[in-house]
Formats: sequence, structure tokens, C-alpha cells
Amino acid sequence: MFRRWFSICNKNTISEIDTHYDKIIQSCNTLPLLTQIHSVLTTTGIIKQSVHLSARVIIKYADHLHLNEARSVFNETDHESSSFLWNTMLRGYANNGYCTEALWFYSLMRESGIKPNNYTFPFVLKSCAVDLVITFGKMVHSEVIRTGFGSDIYVDAALVDMYSGCGVIDDARKVFDKMSKRDVVCWTSMITAYEQDERGETALWLLGRMQDEGFALDWVTIVTVASAVGQLGDARKGRAVHAFALRNRLLLEVPVVNSILAMYGKCGEVEYAETVFVHAKVKQRITWNSMLTCYTQNGLASEALNLFEQMKVFDVMPNEVTVLVLVSACAYIGSRHHATRIHDYIIENNIEINLTLWNAIMDMYAKCSDLDTAVKMSKQVPLDQLDVSSYNTLISGYGMHGYGKQALRLYNEMKNENIHPNHITFISILSACSHAGLINEGKKCFLEMKDFLVTPDSKHYACMVDMLGRAGQLDEAYDLIKNMSSKPNDDVWGALLLACKMYGNTNLAKVAANNLFCLEPQHSGYYVLMSNVYADSRNWYEVGKLRENMKNKGLKKPAALSLIEFNNELHGFHTGEQLDSVTRDVYKKMEQMIIDLKKAGYVPDLSCVFHDVEDEDKEAMVYYHGEKLALAFGLINIDKSLPIRITKNLRVCSDCHSAFKLVSCVYERKIIVRDVNRFHHFEDGLCSCNDYW
Ligand code: ZN
Ligand code: ZN
Repeated sequence: MFRRWFSICNKNTISEIDTHYDKIIQSCNTLPLLTQIHSVLTTTGIIKQSVHLSARVIIKYADHLHLNEARSVFNETDHESSSFLWNTMLRGYANNGYCTEALWFYSLMRESGIKPNNYTFPFVLKSCAVDLVITFGKMVHSEVIRTGFGSDIYVDAALVDMYSGCGVIDDARKVFDKMSKRDVVCWTSMITAYEQDERGETALWLLGRMQDEGFALDWVTIVTVASAVGQLGDARKGRAVHAFALRNRLLLEVPVVNSILAMYGKCGEVEYAETVFVHAKVKQRITWNSMLTCYTQNGLASEALNLFEQMKVFDVMPNEVTVLVLVSACAYIGSRHHATRIHDYIIENNIEINLTLWNAIMDMYAKCSDLDTAVKMSKQVPLDQLDVSSYNTLISGYGMHGYGKQALRLYNEMKNENIHPNHITFISILSACSHAGLINEGKKCFLEMKDFLVTPDSKHYACMVDMLGRAGQLDEAYDLIKNMSSKPNDDVWGALLLACKMYGNTNLAKVAANNLFCLEPQHSGYYVLMSNVYADSRNWYEVGKLRENMKNKGLKKPAALSLIEFNNELHGFHTGEQLDSVTRDVYKKMEQMIIDLKKAGYVPDLSCVFHDVEDEDKEAMVYYHGEKLALAFGLINIDKSLPIRITKNLRVCSDCHSAFKLVSCVYERKIIVRDVNRFHHFEDGLCSCNDYW
């Protein structure tokens, strides 16, 4: 067929040849064909004559990622006189990810004395943004001004993208503000830049200006805006975005639906998300995944698991993202049954388990108080493939269950395997040492941080304060806080306050509490803890003052929820639940339990109830704590050979803690409670936390 072209070449005029070759080049889709046509063009000398055809071949080679071949075409051409072929080659490099090459090529272009123009700059600037070479980008910017292209809309838009891509948003904004004309793309890219820099507020403000200037928002802009609002977690603005999308019929676009779901998830507006989800005309897998993530982010793990069942009914094939979300949902509720089910599902459906998913599965088992399986899972990954997150997951798993020695063993193992501990490793190992009362070992790890170039932050200090506080070394803990290089946060002061409560140090508790009230004025937990400190020292006047203070601020204790799994279902118990037919047996059992415990020496600990309640009512208040009801439910329903597993969303109160210890010996039951901080293994009248949690 190439012979035929030769004849065309001999007989016809240049423009006819151009059209013929053009068609042929367009249809060349393999390297051999392209190489053949290239050699024909070379031997006939067309390459030197037709700038247009040369450019075509260069682009074709470049789009097939054969940049060397593209470059050899360029070298054969007569490119000394015009910038057109230079721009074509530059485009080949820049559009196909060969950004460093693009920048070298641009330098060569300048050295050859070719003047860049408004087609040149966007490709060069794009490459600067990808390669993050801001100095080069700034040099190009001054060339743009020098060569008089500073008011070209495309060049300016490329400058905006270059600066924001390099993370210099303020310089991007300067260019943007100077632009005499801006199009939708330009507005969107500036808004996106702020959104990606997590400056949602500015992104939204700019959006308002864009509308003021009469630009209609398209769905691409709405996706960006929804993400910006999600970052702010501003539910009110979120509803405005949703309403706008509805009015402009933008919810027909699948990416808009997905981004609004994600936005509502981050704003904690689950019900709105559900409405959007239910009404979505097209539900792609990513739409289901967004809804699942929304549930899981907001602690609605059971809803996530139910939605997963529906997903199967609708024949939507889950992927790695789906199962990763579900695995974290199971970890959150601590449901051993669901954990096994989702794990089986992953195996049965041959879903690829990458290391991230392995780590999540290990974490899930550890949080479902099945550390043995978690460790077994880690053994299924080849030792040389375990990464720092795998070790962190296991160390924190051991730590939560109070197995400090095993956590330390793993910490040493990872160092031997040449895996560098990171700042999360140190949080896990320090809290493991703290939970197990291994003070000397913990101090040693704290000192080792600098060997691994990890600067201790508030979280590490909080672990250290907790560790020292547990051992009653309150002054040392306070000294440590005073010597912190950064400002201590609420974790640090919270750990000190807890220690002060345990050791009855009211004066130091006041220091901690005052700092906490400044840092987190809306956190009711610290008020409750401080009022407990006063209650312990029978200072009812101060207890009353704190309570009044809470009332004035409109603070309430967050609702407690205790979950227990039975017959593959989760049963939730709130504190002070009303009597109904379902819970009547549970109440009876709970009352019997209190009688049995009192015989064994149980005295209700009323320090967690405010003092102005009558003693009799106070007792009733602690009896009806959700975790006690859950325990009573477990005593009735769960076979004696099995441990009773309860998950609580807050800290276990001191009364329930001592009641659980007694139950474990009076009824000879093993009880495992996971509270917000750690696991408590109750057995033979003792708890694995050694009464410090
Ligand atoms: Zn309680
Ligand atoms: Zn405990």
C-alpha cells in the first residue's frame, strides 16, 4: 500500500498529498504502521516540506508514548524558523506526562532563539505544576510578561494552575485577580485550588463572586463546592448547595450525587444523605460506597451493614473500597459476627486483599476483641511485606487489650526488620506501655523517638502524662507538661485531670480543668470529670457551681450507648431505658444481679451522679446504666462457655466497673468491655486495666 502513495506523491500537488497522508496518519494505530509511514515521509522528503504532516506524526507518536520517535521526526524537520513545531513537540511531552523533558525542551527552544508564544506557555506551565518546579515556573512567568502575553486568557489560566499546582495559592490568586477576562474554567480552577488547599471558606466566597459576575455554575463547579463545604463540615451551607443542585437539575449528574453524599457525610447530615441516595436516578457502585462511607463516618455501622445487604440485592458488585468501609464499620461496632461475615465475603468473592485491606482486617479483629485472629491474619502476610501500618495496627491492638509486653516485642521486631517506627507507632507503643503500667519501658521508648527523627507532639505527651499519672507521679507529669515545646492540648490536660481524679489531687486537677475549660469550652466530659474530683473530696459547693456552669452553657453529657451481640444481632442499651415488653426480663435480671452483688459486698459508687439527687434516686440512676442492662441481657442470653462482649461509646463509669468485676466472680463469667479508651477483660473479680482507665 505504500507503493501506491509513492505514485500519488509523484503525480499530485502538495495539498492533495497532504490530505491523503493526513488521513493515513490518523488511521495509524500501531507503532509498526507509524514507523512505516514515517520512513515514507522521510525518503520522499515530505517531512522537510510539510510542517503540517510532520506535526501530525509527532503528535501521533507522542500520544502512543513513543516520545523518542516523535523527537526524531522533529529533528528531521525544518524547525529553525517557526515556533509551531517546537510547540507541537512541547505539547507531546507535556500532555503525556514527560514534564521534565518538556522543561528541558523549552530551554533548548529558548537557546535556539525561537520566540515562545501564547501556545508555548500553557504547556511549559503545566509541566512546571506537575514537576513542582516553582522557580522555573516563576522564570516562565517573567518571560510571559516580557514577551507581552501577560493578558492572554489561556496563558493566565495556565499561570493560575501552575501556582496553585505548586501549592502557592496566594500567587495564583494574584494572577487571577489581575486577569481582565475570566471564563468558567478559570473560575473553577481558582475555586478548586482553594478547595484542595482546604480553604473551603475562601472557595465559597469566590463562588459567590463568580455568581455575582453572572457565571452559571455547572456541575463541575458544584462537585468542587460540595467538597469545599464538606471540608468545612458546615451543614447549613451544605443544604444550600444541595438546594442549588436540585433547582438546576444538576442531581441528574452522577458525580454531583456522589459529591453531595460525601459532603453530607462529612457534615454529619445522614438523613439528608439518605434522601439524596434514595432519589438518585442512577446508583453506581461509587454512589453506594459514598452512602456506606457516610454511615460509617457517622458511627452508624449497623446501617452501613444493612445497606451492604441491599447492595447485594440490587446486584451491585462491591469492590475493595466497599469492603474497606465495611471492615472499618465492623471495627467500630466491635461485632465479631459481622467481622467474620465480611471477611468470609471477601474470600468467597475473590476480592483482592491489598496491604491496606489486610491492615484494616487485623485492626477489625483486634477491635472485635479477637486479638488471636488479628495476629493470625498478620501471619498470612509475608513478613517482608508488612509495613509500618501493619505493625502499628498490631501494637495498638495489644496495647488496647493491656498486653504491653507483647506490644514491646513487636516494636522491637519491627526495628529488627528495619521498618522505621513513625509518630503513630510511638503513640501506640507509649499508650500500650501506659495501659500495662510499664513505666520504665515507656520512658525508654519516649527517649528513642529522636533516634527515628520523630518529634513528640501532644498525643505522645498525653500518653506520657497518662503513664506517669497512673503510677501516681503527678508532679513529674506536670513538669513534663510545663517543659513541652508546643502548647499542650486537651489530650494532655485531660490525661492529667484523670490522674488527679484517681489520686485525689484537687489542686492540680483545678489547674488541668481550667486549661481544659479554655481549650474545649463545649466538652461536657471535662466538666463531669472535674465535678467527680470535687465529689470525691465531698466539696458539694464546687460540684453545684460546675453543674450550674454546664447548665448555663447548655452542655449535656453525650448519650451513652452500650452494644451487645446476640444471635448475630446487635442489641443497644441506653442509660435509664424505659420499660417495655422486650426489656422487662432484662430489668428483672438486672435487679436480681444487684441483690446478688450486694450480698458479695457491692456498694454502689455514686460519685458519678450529681449530688443534689436523693441517694435512693442516685442508686437507681447507676443501676440503669446502659452497660449494666447490656450485661444483664448477656447473662440471660449468652451461653456460660462464651465471654460476654460489650462495646460502649464512652468511658465505663467507676460503678459499672466495680460491678462488672464482682459479676465476673459471682457468676463466674468472662466479660470483655470495649470502651472509648481501651478493652477491659473482667475475670475472677479483676480487670485487666488494673482499675486505671
Ligand atoms: Zn455505669
Ligand atoms: Zn477495667
